[in-house]
Amino acid sequence: MSHVQQYIDKKLVNYIMKKLSSNRPGIGHHESYARGNIAPSLGLVYYMEQEVSVFSDSVLKLKQEMFRNGFYWKPCFVKKCKDCGTEYDENIEKCTCGSTFFHEPDYSQVREKEYFIEKANYNGQSLKEVLSDFEFNLNVADNAYLFLVKAYEYDRAGDNALEDVKEIL
Ligand SMILES: [Zn+2]
Repeated sequence: MSHVQQYIDKKLVNYIMKKLSSNRPGIGHHESYARGNIAPSLGLVYYMEQEVSVFSDSVLKLKQEMFRNGFYWKPCFVKKCKDCGTEYDENIEKCTCGSTFFHEPDYSQVREKEYFIEKANYNGQSLKEVLSDFEFNLNVADNAYLFLVKAYEYDRAGDNALEDVKEIL
């Protein structure tokens, strides 16, 4: 093995050790790397994202295109039957169950959660920041996690009566 290759290998291993933010319980970074589990390949893709310009350009372009047009709210349905709950994507006069009473989309539900776009969590990140990080990890490592922190309210019987998303991380 040449000195140059040894140097590069050492640089790569050091990079992976430094960047691996988590590992399996009870296994240190070094051991985890030596055992050849899946984590080093994740470290490698982040290393490549930084060092290989074609890769980083593609990831950046994907992110720009994905978030270019911002966000908008889309109603789940055009009409929803008040009797049987069937949702329709088009404007109809009569439900298949025979009912002619319908719910329309309730815009007040959007107003309740609109602040998420500006402030998605208590770290002060916007929804765009959170989702672009998410998308970045998905593109690079094919692995990403989105946390929805919820608050729960229970009724007297101890059953879960209400749940509400407080943060998106
Ligand atoms: Zn119906």
